[in-house]
Amino acid sequence: MSRPLLATIHLQALAHNLEQVRRFAPQSKVWAVIKANAYGHGLLRAADGLAEADGFAILNIEDALKLRESGWHKPILLLEGVFSSEEYLLCAEHRLTPVVHSFHQCDWLAASALPVKLPVYLKLNTGMNRLGFPLAEFERALGRLRAMPQVEVITLMTHFAEADAPNGTERPLSLLKEIAAGHAYQSSLANSAAVVSAPQTHGDWVRPGIMLYGATPFADRSAASLGLRPAMALTSEVIAIQHLQAGSAVGYGSSFVAEKPMRIGVIACGYADGYPRHAPSGTPIVVAGRRTRLVGRVSMDMITADITDIPSAQIGSPVELWGARLPVDEVASVAGTVGYELLSALAPRVAIQCA
Ligand SMILES: *Cc1c(COP(=O)(O)O)cnc(C)c1O
Repeated sequence: MSRPLLATIHLQALAHNLEQVRRFAPQSKVWAVIKANAYGHGLLRAADGLAEADGFAILNIEDALKLRESGWHKPILLLEGVFSSEEYLLCAEHRLTPVVHSFHQCDWLAASALPVKLPVYLKLNTGMNRLGFPLAEFERALGRLRAMPQVEVITLMTHFAEADAPNGTERPLSLLKEIAAGHAYQSSLANSAAVVSAPQTHGDWVRPGIMLYGATPFADRSAASLGLRPAMALTSEVIAIQHLQAGSAVGYGSSFVAEKPMRIGVIACGYADGYPRHAPSGTPIVVAGRRTRLVGRVSMDMITADITDIPSAQIGSPVELWGARLPVDEVASVAGTVGYELLSALAPRVAIQCA
């Protein structure tokens, strides 16, 4: 048998989480955000589980083409638009919807000879200050797009910097409303946090990502409390057992020292698999069905856990790094990060299976 580390993707959990999105935003169409290899779940695998979505939102054309080749005929949104002028031709050939966030993208589009008109998403910068036109330039950008023969329908979009904070969507929403006043444009604003907590932002198309994968966009609300199911379980096995004397250490830097005799399980999973290197001693982990704690430093290929009180744990015992018994958000929070990072950092060397 090969190295026992395995990521299992539950397609039914993806489908269930998509249904939860529709429960939160019943009037809106859903762009399922599958950027970053579908937050680590695998682009086409996730697309399978999320096939009931109204469209897929991604970053690069290469992924869009993979989706088209796999038979996906519904809309595809390019969240950052094109990265070079040539990509507009591919957008037209494959019916992709690019975001337009800057005047240089406007210039490229105006200079493109396209066989068909493109639907575009025009992005307003409402405080994130990464991509998008500031309010003062938005009318000019809108005017340019409206005058272009290359452009079919225009949808207004923005991305919230603070959708997870109370009232974090208020000002961005009022800016967008100001712009849309008197026009009949469709809009797309809401990420997962806004899907859950800001129904007034739902508009025509919502853009959930993290919640589809069964993790939470909030620091203080669990995925389970939102009715979401984890779509990924990362599991492995105990591959060796060590007995520590009081005063003995485990792992690089001897950062953990046993105060009493301990039994330690060595587990096949390390930071080169995507497990967070900063997870401290005490990070939760499930061994042989029982919740225990990581001890010692995370190394490249292995971690070590306290199995002193789990006498049933033996070589070959199952280990859950995160999944149904242990939410990825809990591991992330103890390691000083978010579920988004742990899921999307799953390393290519980890075998993936669907369930
Ligand atoms: C990633 C992304 C989303 C999804 O965000 P979640 O917090 O994962 O729901 C939505 N819109 C844009 C523009 C994004 O880049």
